[in-house]
Amino acid sequence: MNTDNSNVRTILTGDRPTGRLHLGHFVGSLKSRVQLQEKHRQFILVADMQALTDNNGNPAKVRENVLEVVTDYLAVGIDPQRTTICLQSALPAISELAMLYLNFTTVARLERNPTIRSEIVHRGFERSVPAGFLCYPVSQAADITAFDADLVPVGEDQAPLIELANEIVTRVNNQSGKSTLKNMEGLYSETPRLPGVDGKSKMSKSSSNSITLGSSPEEIRAAVRQMYTDPKHIRVSDPGTVEGNVVFSFLDAFDQDKNEVDALKEHYRAGGLGDMVLKRRLEDLLQSLLEPIREQRKRFAADPEYVLSVLRTGTEKSRDVTSETLCRVRKDLGHFIL
Ligand code: ATP
Ligand code: MG
Repeated sequence: MNTDNSNVRTILTGDRPTGRLHLGHFVGSLKSRVQLQEKHRQFILVADMQALTDNNGNPAKVRENVLEVVTDYLAVGIDPQRTTICLQSALPAISELAMLYLNFTTVARLERNPTIRSEIVHRGFERSVPAGFLCYPVSQAADITAFDADLVPVGEDQAPLIELANEIVTRVNNQSGKSTLKNMEGLYSETPRLPGVDGKSKMSKSSSNSITLGSSPEEIRAAVRQMYTDPKHIRVSDPGTVEGNVVFSFLDAFDQDKNEVDALKEHYRAGGLGDMVLKRRLEDLLQSLLEPIREQRKRFAADPEYVLSVLRTGTEKSRDVTSETLCRVRKDLGHFIL
């Protein structure tokens, strides 16, 4: 790789191994990761330590999903020759950095974070939120900075976490008086927040509102059929609402023919266009998008040894990178190093 080319950015992204990856991941970040790996230095972290912050009672779920997530990466075209895929729990330097960074923010700041606040409500934690969960944005700051990443392709829910990570970077640099850590920017796709099929919240693994990348044709059909549209659009002739209508959010995300989607929206608003016509169009699009991914997925799932070797090789490479960062941070901050 040509690292002296100034256009080459270092990218860190990742996913929690809490379930199979879904269409929200595909449009929110996987698609751009496949393109970014062509020109940049990309690391993808399987965030199993972070997954435990709200799944501490269910380590089997996290363990079982590690290779599933790596299989999803390979199925969509993440190329291990171009992208380093690694496992968070096997990179202790990240945990050490997180421990140091905890002192560069406050409990009040973490409690104010809008993403954390809504996730706490969604999970029903109230005051029994695990300390690890409240602090996971700090561990995410450690993930990003451990790789000296300056570009982070993520969904919209991550924006407040990037802001916090940049605050930590600034505080560390102010204290060291050097450019110890790099600031980073989030890279948001055209669809930074794909709704779930029920239309209530973003599509996510922890709500049962997703269409996973390995879905069978029948599962895709059933999910599209149950998609939330406009409850007031009862007869075909009724005028319908496009905003908040999940089928239109999906057409915006997956239909390449933007002019046709605009025409469909206009027709729907005026009345005379039935939900079934739209759902059939969307189903065809999703069936053809997911068919090759599902086939590739099956191929990789049949070879777990290969999937494991990809993760092992990437993690070994990442161990050197992250340890070097930890040493630099501790040295610049003037810590005692034995
Ligand atoms: P969980 O419910 O366990 O939090 P998740 O579905 O939210 O799982 P994550 O592993 O937390 O998935 O997120 C991984 C990445 O995918 C993040 O960058 C996140 O912003 C992005 N992402 C997740 N869901 C969506 C979505 N519905 N639309 C766009 N991007 C998404
Ligand atoms: Mg999430």
